[in-house]
Amino acid sequence: MGNHPITVCNQVLSCDFEAVRQSMRCGSRCLPDDEDAQLALRLVFAPMDSPASTSCPMKPGEEVIVTSIKKAPGWEPLTWRQDRVARQEAAARGARLWPGPGESRFGRPSRCWCVQLLAADGRGGVRQMSALLQVACAQEDRDLEKVKDAVKEISSVAKYAHRFNYHVAQAVGEEPANIPAIRVASSAACFVLDSVNPRVADAGDTAILTFFDAKNVTKFVFEGGEDFEELPQAFFHFVLWSSGGKELLADLQGALKGQDFVLVDPVLLRGAEMAIADVMALSSSGELPNPNQQRFDLWHPRCGQLCRSFDPSRRTSSTRRACGLRPSGAFKPPPAGGGFSGVWLGFGWDT
Ligand SMILES: [Zn+2]
Repeated sequence: MGNHPITVCNQVLSCDFEAVRQSMRCGSRCLPDDEDAQLALRLVFAPMDSPASTSCPMKPGEEVIVTSIKKAPGWEPLTWRQDRVARQEAAARGARLWPGPGESRFGRPSRCWCVQLLAADGRGGVRQMSALLQVACAQEDRDLEKVKDAVKEISSVAKYAHRFNYHVAQAVGEEPANIPAIRVASSAACFVLDSVNPRVADAGDTAILTFFDAKNVTKFVFEGGEDFEELPQAFFHFVLWSSGGKELLADLQGALKGQDFVLVDPVLLRGAEMAIADVMALSSSGELPNPNQQRFDLWHPRCGQLCRSFDPSRRTSSTRRACGLRPSGAFKPPPAGGGFSGVWLGFGWDT
C-alpha cells in the first residue's frame, strides 16, 4: 500500500512502511524503533491564521510519521458531546437540546488520540511534536471535504476570538497582550498516506490534527453545570450577540495556558437565526421555542460584567429571558469576511 513519497531527515521515502522502516534503521539515531511507525500523514489544509489561533508548527504539504498513538485519560471530555447526542437519538423523544446529526457536526462520532509526530526539521535532523488526532468513526465522515469544513468552522471560532479579545482589551483599557485572552488550538486536515494501524485510520482517510498538548481537557461551556469562568462564558455570549443571533457556539472546552483559555475543537452552530421577538411569541402561544434559545439560556445561565460591556440588555440569571439581541430588522451584522466596520458601544473593531 502507499504510493506517496514521504520525507524524513531530508530523505524521500516511498511510503510503504517497509521502505520507511529501512530508512529509519539507517537514519538518524533519534528515530525510534521501526515498529513505532504507525501512520504517515500529509498536512493538506491549515487555514488558521487568526492572531487568536495558537501557532501551527507545520505547513500544508509537510509530511510526518506518527510514532505513538495513545488514549489520553484527561482528554475523555472531548467525546462527551457525541455521547450526549447518541443518548438523545436513542431516546427519540422530547425537545432536541443537543444538535443532531442533520444540524451540525456536534454529535459526529470520532475517536481521539494523543499522538507523537516526527518530521524533518529542514536542517538534516528530526523534530518531535505531540498533537491530538481525531478520526471520524464512520468511513463517510473521513472525507476530505467534510474534514476541511470542520477545520474551517474551528478557524471561524478563532476569528471571533480575535474580535472578542480586542473588545475586552478596549473595554478594560489595556493592550491585548497584557490581559487574559481566548485562543483556539490550531487544527489542520491531514491525509493518511499510509498506515499499519487500520483500527486508527487507513490510507486514503482524512483526519483532523490539532496542536494541543495539555494534559487535561476542561469543559468551560457545555451543558450548563460547569464552574463559571467569565471569559469563555462572555465569549459564548459575544458570538451570538455579534452575529445577530445567526451563530451559536457549542462545547467550549480546552485548557488554561498561562493567563489564556486555549479552546480545542469548538463547534459553531449556524443557520438557525433566533429572532427573539418570535421566540417570545411562540413561548407565550405554547409552542416549543427555538432550540438555540434554550441552548443559550441553559449553557450560559448568567452574565458577568464582561457581557454587559457589549450587551447590557440581558437580564440577570433570576430574570433572564434572552440575549439582548437587537430586534430583527434593526440589527446590522458584520460585513462579509468577518470584519467589523461598525462602531458599537464606542468600540472600533479592526478585523
Ligand atoms: Zn452573557
